[in-house]
Amino acid sequence: MTQQITHAGLDEAVKQSPRKWVYLFTEGNAKMRDLLGGKGAGVAEMTNAGLPVPPGFTITTEACNAYYDSGKQFPTGLWEQALAALKVVEQQTGKGFGDKKNPLLVSVRSGAKFSMPGMMDTVLNLGINDETVQGLVALTGDERFAYDAYRRFIQMFSKIVLDTDPRDFEEVLDKYKEKAGVKTDAEIPAADLKKLVGEFKQIAERQSGEPFPTDVYQQLHKAIEAVFSSWNNKRAIDYRNFNKISHDLGTGVNVQSMVFGNMGNNSGTGVAFTRDPSTGEKQLYGEYLLNAQGEDVVAGIRTPSKISRLAQDLPEVYQQFQQIAQRLETHYRDMQDLEFTVEKGHLYMLQTRSAKRNAGAAVKVAVDMVEEGLISKEEAVKRVDPTQVYQLLLPRFDDAEKERAKKAGRLLAKGLNASPGAAYGKAIFDADKAEQLGKAGTPVVLVRPETSPDDVHGMLVAKGILTARGGATSHAAVVARGLGLPCVAGCEGIRVSEAEHLFRVVGSDLVIKEGDDISIDGATGEVFAGIIKTVEADFDKEVDLKKLLSWADGFRKLGVWANADYPRDAKRAVTFGAEGIGLCRTEHMFMEQERLPIVQKMILAKTKEERQAALDQLLPFQRSDFKGIFSSMVDPKTGEGYPVVIRLIDPPLHEFLPSYEELLVDVTRLETQGGHEKELAEKREMLEAVGSMREMNPMLGLRGCRLGLLFPEINVMQTRAILEAAAELAKEGKKLQPKIMIPLVGHVNELKEVRRQLEAVAKEIAGESGGSIEYKFGTMIELPRAALTAGQIAPVAEFFSFGTNDLTQTTFGFSRDDAEGKFLLKYVDGLEVPGSKDKVKILPVNPFQTLDRDGVGQLVQMAVENGRKANPKLELGICGEHGGDPDSIEFCHIIGLDYVSCSPFRVPVARLAAAQAALSRGEKDK
Ligand code: ADP
Ligand code: MG
Ligand code: MG
Repeated sequence: MTQQITHAGLDEAVKQSPRKWVYLFTEGNAKMRDLLGGKGAGVAEMTNAGLPVPPGFTITTEACNAYYDSGKQFPTGLWEQALAALKVVEQQTGKGFGDKKNPLLVSVRSGAKFSMPGMMDTVLNLGINDETVQGLVALTGDERFAYDAYRRFIQMFSKIVLDTDPRDFEEVLDKYKEKAGVKTDAEIPAADLKKLVGEFKQIAERQSGEPFPTDVYQQLHKAIEAVFSSWNNKRAIDYRNFNKISHDLGTGVNVQSMVFGNMGNNSGTGVAFTRDPSTGEKQLYGEYLLNAQGEDVVAGIRTPSKISRLAQDLPEVYQQFQQIAQRLETHYRDMQDLEFTVEKGHLYMLQTRSAKRNAGAAVKVAVDMVEEGLISKEEAVKRVDPTQVYQLLLPRFDDAEKERAKKAGRLLAKGLNASPGAAYGKAIFDADKAEQLGKAGTPVVLVRPETSPDDVHGMLVAKGILTARGGATSHAAVVARGLGLPCVAGCEGIRVSEAEHLFRVVGSDLVIKEGDDISIDGATGEVFAGIIKTVEADFDKEVDLKKLLSWADGFRKLGVWANADYPRDAKRAVTFGAEGIGLCRTEHMFMEQERLPIVQKMILAKTKEERQAALDQLLPFQRSDFKGIFSSMVDPKTGEGYPVVIRLIDPPLHEFLPSYEELLVDVTRLETQGGHEKELAEKREMLEAVGSMREMNPMLGLRGCRLGLLFPEINVMQTRAILEAAAELAKEGKKLQPKIMIPLVGHVNELKEVRRQLEAVAKEIAGESGGSIEYKFGTMIELPRAALTAGQIAPVAEFFSFGTNDLTQTTFGFSRDDAEGKFLLKYVDGLEVPGSKDKVKILPVNPFQTLDRDGVGQLVQMAVENGRKANPKLELGICGEHGGDPDSIEFCHIIGLDYVSCSPFRVPVARLAAAQAALSRGEKDK
């Protein structure tokens, strides 16, 4: 390689073309990911940093797109540029492509802007034919190696380029292994390999219906086309759909000179992370195989060794690799995922990219890198995915219990860790049965060969999902993640029999029958027999996470509050960093066992007096509930109370009564049985009452503020309970911020009237307690009409809280339970098109999870603007589930809400997401 390397040919070819389609590795860099793809940009950057990278060139993603635009034709000049670049690579390596004496072999590797592991195709050892293989033999003096490379090439090329069935090749391989009496491919003797190559070619010809290409340029042309095509294979399309990667980015194609890890025991190949991707520990993590080619590590024929062992096997190589790894990490300022090959003691780097990592590692690496001075706090905050933070706080299996289960042989199989979280329940094999049991409160794990939209109703009530087939983007995985359910997918270690309602564990005689308890760990993919108890995550021990979140707090503008109905939840929310309660629902308090009969008495009261008597009984309960909530919401720094928004009663009253259908059954039974006169009379009375309250559409019926307008005594009692609780605590010297919120207002007059009621109560209490209680009065905006008339409502309210669950229901005209059970998930997943493999997506995401900016969002934004105009002091927040969704939080930041309120577990997610929203908008000062 001492001769002068000249690019003149390539430059000339580029000049003759409409565009530069081909970049030598020496011409690219890390910033060119869009054009070269991640792999191409990575090898170019390494090449130019002086690291040992086998020479090669990259065909641009633009060329891939041009190929598709022109109906699958190479764009003008592409082939000429590729040939010219190949000439440069020949000079760089001192070998000739197709040269009989000194052949250059290349790999043709896919590589898009965003890494799509395993989704697209790569061909190795290209450039072999009956003649060049002789050169390879002469050059290496290793006939076995040369013919092994040849047979691997035919096998890979046939599968990827000729699209043939790989099983026929495997069969022939097995036959030869059997004949030679050996176990692994690597032990097949050279003489047999030669014959095997002949047979392989015949299979390829038979299957593809054309002679196997012996012309190396034809091989290259076809391989490049195949890589272009792999951009649009089904796997790749599904992966992009799931990961929201655009379909028009295209893939780069990297043509790279081969290095061989299978040239004896001073050769090898491996993959490694610069830090441990599951713990974030700062140490090389990975594995390698001696005397093997790239694909062997993944194929799992031999068990790879831990990377640390390389220090003994090839000490110099290990040392060099360690240095390179460190250098790359510092250079990219992020944890890297590396591929390398050692050929006869020489180390070559084949790939570097930002490493995928689990939640714990993501947080630890980000925090460590700030402390190592590698990145800034802003960057650390931007790098961690908020949903990963959520995973860290999900319940997990108790470690000791899990260990015990493993020791007891209860680990049945391992599948894909498709959706995090841990769950146990009865194994149920069909969705209808799962629905039935789940609704009755039995914990259920739905087990299916794979799932389809027909199973969704069962998935909705299951604690977890287990499937035998399907990958990380299968229906089961996608839906489970959407629902926040643990899921183990593609668990090939089990065989599900739908007919027999059981699954068998492959390689053992274990059988799990319907109703048997199982446990699944969605974070690891493990499936266990029996129950493993789950434990809550201990936030206090998450030192790194707490540090990261405290940095995030310094960047965010949005306040983060929590939705909590009980003191226990409120306390947890404060631990997680909540600065207020944005929604405390009072109806849960009504549901408690000792109170429900009183609530029912109140509802069924025939006179005002009867009703008042029941309410008088409820008052002390509610007062102590509110005292509990107020006392739990204390700012740990100042000792003062955080704001607490309490919503007055909201659901239709019949929710507190027995079901009409059940009563009807009871009455009929008692009638036919005879006797039980007293019970029958009671039930009949209840049936009549419940019947008279039945509504066609309870969601749109007598509920929300409408209740308080028809039965003002309820509002009066609740207000009294809130203000008396506050007054009592105030006497103890506590500073509180009670806020009373009216649900489901559609017309300003509704709010005006409720306000009048409440003010009267407040005055009364002030008189009684000898001092006025500070409180704020506001409303939920959860009906389109309220949003549209926000300008009229705002002067009557001190705050708005957007109830985006109901606002989404009423804006779309969806009843959530009906929609999610019947059609909504199909809308998101895509509807089948008859006679086509394509699916038509009606909605990009579930609008109950991610705020629909175009529709619902527009209403919210309008209400914010008109509300503030009419009342500049108006305080604005959101309390729908969207308050914990990163995308929706970004929207809340953009439209200038004061705070988001979400479930306690989502508070850390919201803190991080709010900071990211602020940082991505370039507003770094709080
Ligand atoms: P993927 O994106 O699926 O990892 P790659 O293009 O990285 O596909 O290649 C698959 C395997 O082949 C990897 O192990 C890689 O290291 C190896 N490989 C690719 N090109 C070469 C080459 N020029 N020499 C040796 N091994 C290679
Ligand atoms: Mg790779
Ligand atoms: Mg509501």
